[in-house]
Formats: sequence, C-alpha cells, structure tokens
Amino acid sequence: MLDNLGTSLKDAVKKLAGKTVIDRAAVEELVRDLQRALLSADVNVKLVMHLSQTIKQRALDEEPPKGMGVREHVLRIVYQELVRMMGSPGEVALEPQTILMAGLQGSGKTTTTAKLARYFQRKGLRVGVICADTFRPGAYDQLKTLCDRISVPCFGDPKEPDALKIVREGLPKYRKLYEVIIIDTQGRHALEENLIEEIVNINEISHAEHRWLVIDAALGQQASEQARRFHEAIGIDGVLVTKMDGTAKGGGALSAVAETQSGIVFIGSGETIDDLERFDPDGFISRLLG
Ligand code: GDP
Repeated sequence: MLDNLGTSLKDAVKKLAGKTVIDRAAVEELVRDLQRALLSADVNVKLVMHLSQTIKQRALDEEPPKGMGVREHVLRIVYQELVRMMGSPGEVALEPQTILMAGLQGSGKTTTTAKLARYFQRKGLRVGVICADTFRPGAYDQLKTLCDRISVPCFGDPKEPDALKIVREGLPKYRKLYEVIIIDTQGRHALEENLIEEIVNINEISHAEHRWLVIDAALGQQASEQARRFHEAIGIDGVLVTKMDGTAKGGGALSAVAETQSGIVFIGSGETIDDLERFDPDGFISRLLG
C-alpha cells in the first residue's frame, strides 16, 4: 500500500540522520524529496505545496524539544502535518442508520456495499441492502449474489427501470425490519448530469443519515473532481477508498478527501468481502514513515 511513497519518505528523512543542528540546506533538500514523493503518489499539487511550506517553516522555526535529536524533531513535524492533511477518520456509529452509497461505475461500489453489510453484521446489527442501481444490467444480480453469501437480504427488482420507485417501496419495508440499511446507487463512466440528478433525488426521498463516496485509489488527481461534484450534489460525509491493495499511488484519493473535508471511513484492501479496514491516519502515516 503506497509502498513507493513510504520508501521515498523514509529515504528523505534518513538524510537527516546524525545531524546536530538544522540547517536550511538540509531542510530544503528534505522538503524537495518530500514533494517529489508525494507528487509521484498523486497527492494533489496544491496540497503538496501547502504541506511542504508548512513543514519547512516549522522545521526551521521550532526548536527541538529537550533531548530530541534533529532527525526525530523533523520526522515528528512531517508526521504531524501528514496526519493533519489526511483529516480525522470519518465516524462510523454502531446504531440504526441508512447509508447512501455514491460513486462512479467500476469504483468498487457494489463490492463495497456488500463489505459494509458484512462489517455491520459482524458488529451485531441487523442489516438490509437496497439495490437502486437500475442503470447497469446485472447490478442487482451481482449485489444479490454477494448478499446471499453473508445471508443479508437484498431488496430490488432487475426489471424495474425507476430507481426512485425501488427506494420508495423498499426503504419503509426495510426500516421496519433492519437497523442498518445500505442503498447502492447507479454509477456511470463519467460524471453525467443524469447520474447526479438521480442521486440528489434518492438522497431527498431517503433521508439517509450518511452519504458515503466510493473512490478508486488508482484514480490519482481526478479523484478531487469526483469528490467535489458528489460533495456539492449531496454533501458527502465519508469516503471509502477502494483497491488500496492494488496501487502504489492512492495519494489522489487520499488528498481528495482532505478537499471535501470529510473523513475516510474505510479502506478497501482486496476483492473478498472481508477486505475492508477502518482507516487510521496515525497508523497509516507511521507505516509510511517507518
Ligand atoms: P461498481 O461498478 O462500482 O459497483 O464496482 P464493482 O463493485 O463491481 O467493482 C469493480 C471491480 O473492482 C470488481 O472486479 C471488484 O472485485 C474490484 N474491487 C472492488 N474493491 C476492491 C478492492 O478493495 N481491492 C481490489 N483488488 N479489487 C476491488
């Protein structure tokens, strides 16, 4: 997961080993290495500039605490600023709630819907899933098959073209029977107006407590645009970054989250239904910095 970024960051910080005073040249070199590492992992350019400026300023201005070496001091600043960039992890309450899933086709939305159902089921909650993706042929069958494997009910009708009708019918029924309801919606290859319009309507009639966006980690800089559009349309309050197992990048998706000011709730780390991890910025950055 972001292995290249981790290696470059470690190398950058290693160069400070053995130094007893912080000199401008060393800090500038570190910041340049850091910028290169973050940009090559697709972290948003503006964020990289802002982040490296802050790190440089703090590394030069702040005195290391007593007994702390120069390397540890700078490492601590890099760590703190990276954690700050990632934002707080999104909240996941173990209580009755409706979650609306948003995202483009291929992002991993259907798989992630089933993974989430599994997560809440394991926490002891009664879960039901609604398939409001009436656009992609086979969407209902795919979700139903995944749900069947974990014995979670899946409401939908592959012959019904109107997604709003499905939600209007299924949601009141499921609210009586289940505690956590996850609504999978349609995705498209691009951010088309119809897609946005439909999710706005589903959001209005469902009164979902959460609107979570699914983003493919391999997306890079385009992730920001997707996050922004969905956020403007329905107010995204949590992001799930999928396929973190398959990319050395992922910085685009991570920094997109910083821009929407919502937190990452989960990370998808594989194709099976249990490959879902809660996001922990501290642990994540610690692993990157070694
Ligand atoms: P949707 O079109 O957004 O509903 O996407 P799907 O759920 O059908 O997923 C698209 C592809 O991505 C499928 O082959 C999934 O198995 C795969 N996928 C989803 N999440 C992950 C993940 O976290 N890791 C990996 N390696 N593959 C994933």
